[in-house]
Amino acid sequence: MRFENQVAIVTGASRGIGLAIAKRLADEGAKIAAISRSQSSADQAVAAINEGRAKGYAVDVADKKSVGEVCEKVLADYGRVDVLVNNAGLTRDGLAMRMSEEDWDTVIDTNLKGAFNFMQGVMRTMIKQRSGRIVNISSVSGLTGNAGQSNYAASKAGLLGLSKSLARELASRNITVNVVAPGFITTDMTGVLPENVKTSVLANIPLGKFGEPEDIAAAVAFLASPEAKYITGQCLTVDGGMVM
Ligand code: NAP
Repeated sequence: MRFENQVAIVTGASRGIGLAIAKRLADEGAKIAAISRSQSSADQAVAAINEGRAKGYAVDVADKKSVGEVCEKVLADYGRVDVLVNNAGLTRDGLAMRMSEEDWDTVIDTNLKGAFNFMQGVMRTMIKQRSGRIVNISSVSGLTGNAGQSNYAASKAGLLGLSKSLARELASRNITVNVVAPGFITTDMTGVLPENVKTSVLANIPLGKFGEPEDIAAAVAFLASPEAKYITGQCLTVDGGMVM
C-alpha cells in the first residue's frame, strides 16, 4: 500500500489510461480525485474505482479559472494533495497544411495548458506540505514527431520542457516532476485508427504487441511512489521498445 493516506488527482480518469492509473493508485491506498469533462463520466470513473476511494469532479482542464476552483474543492474535501497525474488529452489529427486554428488551439490548450493549469493549481499546497509527486503523460509522438500530428506532438514535446522546468523550480521543496511517454496503448483514442495504421505501427514495436493502460499505470505508480524519491525531471518511455 504505497499510497496509504495519500490523495491523488488524476485528470482524464473516466476511461483508458487515466482510469487504469486511478484504479492502480486507489488499489495501493490512495484517495482519488477523478477529473473528467462531465460529472456523469467522472461519476462513471468513481464507480469503477476501488469502492469509496474516489470522488468525481467535472472540469475542462483547459479552463484555468475552473481548474483553480476544482483544486480548491479537492483540497477542501480531502485536506491535502500528494500526487497529481496530468493525463487528460485528446487528438485532432491532420496535416499541418490543412490544420485549422481551432484544432491547433484545442490540442495545445487541453494537452499542454491543461497540465500547466493543474500544476499551478496544486503547487502552493505541495510547497506547503514540502512534498509532492507530479507525473505528466506525454507520448512517443512528442519524442519523435509524427506526420499528421503536429499539434499533438508539439503539445506532448511541450510537456517535456514544462516538466523539466518545474522539476527544477520545485525540487528544493521535495516535489518531483516526471513524465511518462506511452507508445501505442489500446484505448478509445487508438481504437478509432484504421487497421492499416495499426498494422504498420505494430511492425515497429520490438515487443510485438500494443500496450495496455495498466502498463502505463504501473510506470506512473512507480514515479509517484516513495521509491522514486530521487528521480525528477525524467521521461520514462513505455512503448514496447518503439523508441530507443
Ligand atoms: P482516451 O481514452 O481518449 O481518454 C481521454 C481522457 O481525457 C478522458 O477521460 C477524457 O474525459 C479526458 N479529457 C479529454 N479532454 C479533456 C478536457 N479538456 N478536460 C478534461 N478531461 C479531458 O485517451 P487515452 O488513450 O486513455 O489517453 C490518455 C492520455 O495518454 C492522453 O494524454 C494521451 O495523449 C496519452 N497517450 C495515449 C496513447 C495511446 O496509445 N492511447 C499514447 C500516447 C499518449 P471525457 O470522459 O470527459 O472525454
